Amino acid sequence: MTMAPANTGISERPARDMLAALARGFRCRCPNCGEGRLFRAFLKVVDHCEVCGAAFHHHRADDAPPYFVILIVGHIVVPMALVVETSLAPPYWVHAVLWGPLTIALSLALLQPVKGAIVAWQWAHYMHGFDPDHEDHHAPPGARWSGP
Ligand SMILES: [Zn+2]
Repeated sequence: MTMAPANTGISERPARDMLAALARGFRCRCPNCGEGRLFRAFLKVVDHCEVCGAAFHHHRADDAPPYFVILIVGHIVVPMALVVETSLAPPYWVHAVLWGPLTIALSLALLQPVKGAIVAWQWAHYMHGFDPDHEDHHAPPGARWSGP
């Protein structure tokens, strides 16, 4: 006699390719198909992929994208400023002209790709609303399944 496995309440979910999803998200594309756009505005994530229909309205990127952008840009700009200062010792106005605009430009350039990668990471791990067993209390009106 064999015993049936205990019902854990967790449905079987196929594994998702994390690296492919991260690369697609970083390119601001749908982590599922890699073709549909992930953003409808600079930092506004689409509700659903226009190509494959994957839902993204329940992502919870929150303030993780700016946190990682600060981390990345800081690790690029600060060493460069230190190298320039120790090797060339330019006047302070040169530092202000160099690093201020570079910091702003890198931050703006990285914010959308980093947010895309974080949404893709959540999707690949079935986090939050990406989990079919998760009850989404934050779904936009009309996005909830109300049954047949
Ligand atoms: Zn898609």
